[in-house]
Amino acid sequence: MSEAPPAGVLTVDLDAIVRNFRLLAERVLPVDCAAVVKADAYGLGLAEVAPALARAECRSFFVAQLAEGVALRKILRRAKSNATIYVLGGLMENERALFEANALVPCLNDLGQLEHWATFCRARGQPLPCALQIDTGMNRLGFPAADLDRLAAEPKRLVGVDLCLILSHLACSDEADHPMNRRQLGRFRAALDRLPHCRASLAASSGMFLGREFLFNTVRAGVALYGGNPTPNAPNPMEQVVQLQGKILQVRDVDRGETVGYGATHRFTRPCRIATVGVGYADGFLRSLSNRGSAAIGGVTAPIVGRVSMDLLTLDVSAAPPELVRPGAMVELIGPNRGIDDVAAEAGTIPYEILTALGPRYERRYTGGAASSE
Ligand SMILES: *Cc1c(COP(=O)(O)O)cnc(C)c1O
Repeated sequence: MSEAPPAGVLTVDLDAIVRNFRLLAERVLPVDCAAVVKADAYGLGLAEVAPALARAECRSFFVAQLAEGVALRKILRRAKSNATIYVLGGLMENERALFEANALVPCLNDLGQLEHWATFCRARGQPLPCALQIDTGMNRLGFPAADLDRLAAEPKRLVGVDLCLILSHLACSDEADHPMNRRQLGRFRAALDRLPHCRASLAASSGMFLGREFLFNTVRAGVALYGGNPTPNAPNPMEQVVQLQGKILQVRDVDRGETVGYGATHRFTRPCRIATVGVGYADGFLRSLSNRGSAAIGGVTAPIVGRVSMDLLTLDVSAAPPELVRPGAMVELIGPNRGIDDVAAEAGTIPYEILTALGPRYERRYTGGAASSE
């Protein structure tokens, strides 16, 4: 398998991730910048990304699931980092020992979860760290208003636990003028006023750009680390991290009136040259890019014509330099000419989905990330 030449090559620039981390970390100083590495570091590879960030002195990580936290703890131990790992998804009663054994901090999402953790801590005779996630309007995870009221009225429910962070999440931070941002900020401040004094965190990648009042003590940088634009209506301040190249498998000339691909959805109005590339929706190159996306060949744009199928896509390469259009040559599907935000816009989705969909068949190459990445 590893000996066979790949049909797609995914290159991840770990130094670019580190530079993006430093850019954000310096921007928010003296506030702490944590790294969100859920979903295998947004599809780019937790085992490679997390050590690079740890070497760049990232001291806090967020994952979504317990299993991700367990995997990350092993990776960080090997990298000689004892950074804090928060698990956003909350706590189930039967998971408590695993949280403790792996020094994971559960983000508790309601009174019941707090009770589970407090009981566990008291039985152990040891205040173990936890975070409280407060719902301020997203209605997804976190203490509902009624649970917050009860906790504020009965602070003894926190006795025995080590409360180390109170967090909430913004629903509309990528729209700077959206009224939800201020509304959630107000609710978060009100919640903090009613709880014991504690470090707080509200902003993710886009929230960091809403103003200093959104920063509190810790920000949670996710997509921006991986090159996604945290300010979607302004130029992207982040560096591109990912390149995806697909191999041309066959080249053909088609006549006017011919069609291409399943459903015959594209009909040629003039003679064209077509290149078939060995990347498809099974590789996470979304089917919604059918007749919409494009590739770059020698700096020339080659539009996707016809449907993206499971293993293949077809490009109109009529305008591309002929010497670059041959079987075995690679075309750029994501890269300097085609950022993840561009691909996402063409696919009718967000860069998060483009990244996390990147499939298992690509050969993955990592550049940078060396121990002394100064
Ligand atoms: C995914 C997630 C983040 C990171 O969001 P980005 O927009 O990728 O920076 C932060 N906080 C929570 C609660 C999340 O679920």
